[in-house]
Amino acid sequence: MTAPHHVVVVGSFNVDHVWNCRSLPRRGETLAGRYHTGPGGKGFNQAVAAARAGASTAFLCALGNDDGGRQARTLAESDGIALRVHDSAHATGTAGIYVDEAGNNTIVIGAGANADLGAAWVGRQAPVLAGARLLLAQLESPLDAVLEAMRLARAGGTMTMLNPAPANAECLRELLAAADILTPNETEFTALLECHTSHRVDSDALVATSDAQLHRLCRTLLPRGSVVVTLGAAGAFVSHREDLTRGDAEAFYRVPADRVEPVDTTGAGDAFNGALAASYAAAPERAFALHVRFANRYAAQSTQHVGAASGMPHLAVEIS
Ligand code: ATP
Repeated sequence: MTAPHHVVVVGSFNVDHVWNCRSLPRRGETLAGRYHTGPGGKGFNQAVAAARAGASTAFLCALGNDDGGRQARTLAESDGIALRVHDSAHATGTAGIYVDEAGNNTIVIGAGANADLGAAWVGRQAPVLAGARLLLAQLESPLDAVLEAMRLARAGGTMTMLNPAPANAECLRELLAAADILTPNETEFTALLECHTSHRVDSDALVATSDAQLHRLCRTLLPRGSVVVTLGAAGAFVSHREDLTRGDAEAFYRVPADRVEPVDTTGAGDAFNGALAASYAAAPERAFALHVRFANRYAAQSTQHVGAASGMPHLAVEIS
């Protein structure tokens, strides 16, 4: 019998194919670009971040019987991540990513094997889910499988954290209701508000929105748990239900980002989520603001390296 994992991540693995171009290709245009390939997928990136932040981590995913699948297994092993794999008859997931000189990107995802992650298979992972301290999930996998994982985790007393990325208009109310911690970026936050409430907010205006107003918006999405809205170089906004604040002095507050000169912000959100999960799982009794501060620090460091999963820093949570 193996020791229970502190963090279990359920999600996607993709082989990223990245072209750095002067500008993003327009319709009908052919461009030259610098090419590189590497491991990615929101699930895998977050699992690598959690593991490199020091958490004992398991990753539940679907892989094809191909080079991409073998790459995932090798990489997970080198980071000490326990893999639970649904063997798919389809090719391992891929992402085609164009990045321009300003760092803007366009992405096409070929879900491949990721689309085969089913609720029934997830159901058979109940002991892993229920034995963990925290489950971390995203929306790059079939939503019924994600929901099943969150339900099983909750039923077993495991904390649930949902990174509602990429923005998905079908993000179900049930999924939000199953989350103890919700971590949208600005785009995902405004998409969720549009989908589930009557509020229309411009994502560019969020940084300037008053904290009290942001708190009210967060509470409309998640009446019960904690919401952490990541704000890029501005850090993060945190909203707790008041009786969940524990060591935190306030029910809502901002945690500024570390000041860095970013080299590549790809995967900064994944770095933040993996690090927040690792920190929380290491010491759930600590003030939540300290976990967010660590996640900001970890994510800022991730911007100093090129690549998604491969750019995750080795920076362990310090518990004093
Ligand atoms: P991405 O899609 O690039 O992975 P995201 O849009 O999901 O990122 P952001 O809100 O842009 O997520 O960034 C996540 C976290 O990364 C921020 O909360 C912050 O901690 C850190 N971060 C991002 N950009 C910067 C930056 N320029 N300087 C310092 N920290 C940053």
